Amino acid sequence: MSDEIEIPESHPRYQSLLTRHRIEAGVEKGITSKQGLIAQGRGEAFDYLIGERTTESAEQAERVAAAHLLLADSPVLSVNGNVAALVPGEIVELAKATGAEIEVNLFNRTEERMEAIAEHLREHGAEEVKGLTADGRIPGLDHERAKVDADGIGNADVVLVPLEDGDRAEALGEMDKTELVIDLNPMSRSAQVASVPIVDNVIRAVPNMTDHARDLAAEPNSTLEGIIEEFDPEAALSAAEDAIRSGDME
Ligand code: ATP
Repeated sequence: MSDEIEIPESHPRYQSLLTRHRIEAGVEKGITSKQGLIAQGRGEAFDYLIGERTTESAEQAERVAAAHLLLADSPVLSVNGNVAALVPGEIVELAKATGAEIEVNLFNRTEERMEAIAEHLREHGAEEVKGLTADGRIPGLDHERAKVDADGIGNADVVLVPLEDGDRAEALGEMDKTELVIDLNPMSRSAQVASVPIVDNVIRAVPNMTDHARDLAAEPNSTLEGIIEEFDPEAALSAAEDAIRSGDME
């Protein structure tokens, strides 16, 4: 990234400082909202407790999520201001590895921010970015927050929603979509309603999912279905909560 700062990789809080800087740069660029800074703070606290690592159960959830995206008819990756600031190129890679569409989907929707994020994603290699047409609605949400593209999230069978707010995650779940949620808080409503809760930092989770997708790409559907069937979302949430509560940072 051109707007990256110089932090020595040996710094004990390298990852956390880099993440913080990217969010800050996102706010300056008009991509991330001020509320995004607060969400980042909450995420950091959980990541600290989890040991700033991908737990074994999160790794498994990432593989299951990759299997879902590969099996889907119309998979969509939903991108908000924090995700755009933190992992723009990585989202494009995941979309390419799974054949998914990318859709900008904001809690505090403004046309300016929608455009800025779409442009930022294009700068990172995205060919098509959905979300600007907004000709579909998620039932049960107020007007602005309900907007989606009818041929994007509106029509998707599998949606990856990193850092989604609880209301929208619930409403999407009620639309009978398979929801893959990345959220560092296993107790958040979004994680609780997910078909596949991924309790990991989006910075680690997205590239891991891409690796798994590449690894699974040549597998037959029956293998992918088997991976999905074995997964237990309740167990994944419990394992994450245990890791946090036990304070076992390894
Ligand atoms: P809910 O309604 O689902 O309970 P919320 O809407 O109150 O949650 P926010 O305050 O919007 O949640 O915070 C966003 C969520 O995203 C938090 O649960 C936070 O842990 C998580 N989060 C923030 N940054 C990251 C990140 N980099 N990777 C993964 N999760 C993150």
